[in-house]
Amino acid sequence: MDELGQITEHLLRFSPDGLIVVDDQGIIRFANETTYELFGYEPTTLIGRNMEVLVPERLRTRHAEHVANFLVKPSKRAMGARVAALAARRADGSEFSAGIRLAPFHINGKLYVAAAIRDITERQRINEALIAAREEADRANRAKSRFLATASHDLRQPLQTIRLLNAAMFKIVKTNEMRGLLSQQQHAIDTMTRLLNALLDISRLESGAIEPKPVPVSIMELFEELEAEFSAAARARGLVLEFDPAPAVICTDRTLFYQLLQNLIGNALKYTDRGTVNVACVSDADGVIVSVTDTGIGIPADKLERIFDEYYQVDTHGAKRVGVGLGLAIVREVARILGISVNVSSQVGQGTQVRVVIPPKSVLSATAPPQAEDEEHVRVTNNATTRLILVEDNESVRAATELFLKLEGYEVQSAGSVAEAEPFFAKLRPGDVVIADHHLDEKRTGLDMLIELRQRFGYTVPGIILSGDLPSVLRSMRSAVPACVFLGKPVDTDALVQTIEELANASRREHGGSVEQLARSQAS
Ligand code: ADP
Repeated sequence: MDELGQITEHLLRFSPDGLIVVDDQGIIRFANETTYELFGYEPTTLIGRNMEVLVPERLRTRHAEHVANFLVKPSKRAMGARVAALAARRADGSEFSAGIRLAPFHINGKLYVAAAIRDITERQRINEALIAAREEADRANRAKSRFLATASHDLRQPLQTIRLLNAAMFKIVKTNEMRGLLSQQQHAIDTMTRLLNALLDISRLESGAIEPKPVPVSIMELFEELEAEFSAAARARGLVLEFDPAPAVICTDRTLFYQLLQNLIGNALKYTDRGTVNVACVSDADGVIVSVTDTGIGIPADKLERIFDEYYQVDTHGAKRVGVGLGLAIVREVARILGISVNVSSQVGQGTQVRVVIPPKSVLSATAPPQAEDEEHVRVTNNATTRLILVEDNESVRAATELFLKLEGYEVQSAGSVAEAEPFFAKLRPGDVVIADHHLDEKRTGLDMLIELRQRFGYTVPGIILSGDLPSVLRSMRSAVPACVFLGKPVDTDALVQTIEELANASRREHGGSVEQLARSQAS
């Protein structure tokens, strides 16, 4: 045998695959040593036999059909690569999963087929184990998200009670010492509320329960809302918070995008002791870029990658760690869902810039939208006591809410159910505000109740709906409801009072000086 022949023989012998050659009649004309080991035959005993012996008996008829088809139109193909369980039969009748690759060739015009055969039983087993492990992990993750969502939702009721009682005690208590303790308590309640909100958000985002609803969003409008939300906090920290003009309109989920910016601006304010937080919006070839730039403590370069992880907080920030480490994890999830990217650059001691890049396909316009007429805000001062009808099925929440609202100077009539509230509704008059829990009973939501009242009395009864799962409630609604404000539990007491005032004033404005007349005509 010449040198090349010897090399070829070695290669064939040590090939990790079983290699066989069959002729156009299906007779095995060559088999390497690996084939004999794989199938458990004595060396050379396969030569001259029909390749059928390598196929389990139950599959032979089907195999013969495949062979016939293949011989009509032979082509290179990887049978084993695609067919997951191509069974092969050993000499002792046992079976294994085979990956088979076929290569037809001709010698002197006669067709032969070379086949490379590999035992893929182990690979398949590992694949199956991986799939099962992945499914198990997904299941566990979904269960975790469900648990977090339920737990954080259920914790809202008691937290709501504590928050309202705290606000009520603030009204009653006069000594500075006690007020100091109450304000510490309020601080703890705020922290807990933030944590609960963040937990609920992240679990909802991760569990895939949130479907983004893209609508045209004016960045300028978002900036105005964000400015209203954060300007007091910035002032309190002695920081300049500036929003640059932002003419762009993008197509995105408004609530989620707002939430993303909220988290970034919140962080910028939190981690900046002096200077400026600037929020800007520019358009270029990459799309629209919203940037939040602060002159704060900065983030070390080696920590930049980790800040988007859940519960990660930069250790060198020490006492600055006021959050819970979920804000940027929420940003990451929201960005993933909205298909936008978020980049951070930072210099320790100099500041941080976070850039949110909205790709061109989501940009509707980079220039200014037509200006809407400025809404006229007339504040009607009101001397009359606003009457509130509170419907809340949780007794302790109801008692705490009633106490707080009475201390705020309102006339409050409270009921544990719609039926119980009926005597109060019977005397409903314009200017009264209905406050109801969203989940009232199995049949009706607070909103259903409000709509029924509006039909019954023939005017837009103002309402506030409280819910422990505000985002879900808002998402389930098809359109906004006029003169109806949804507030999340635990409710921010300032926001509650402000909303009552706005609704009551608007209702009085709508009915002008005729409130008393209308009330009288309804009574008659
Ligand atoms: P936290 O609730 O702690 O703020 P985040 O997930 O929002 O959690 O942020 C993770 C960490 O990243 C923070 O704890 C902080 O160390 C760091 N970080 C985030 N934003 C900034 C910023 N603008 N400047 C400095 N550090 C920041």
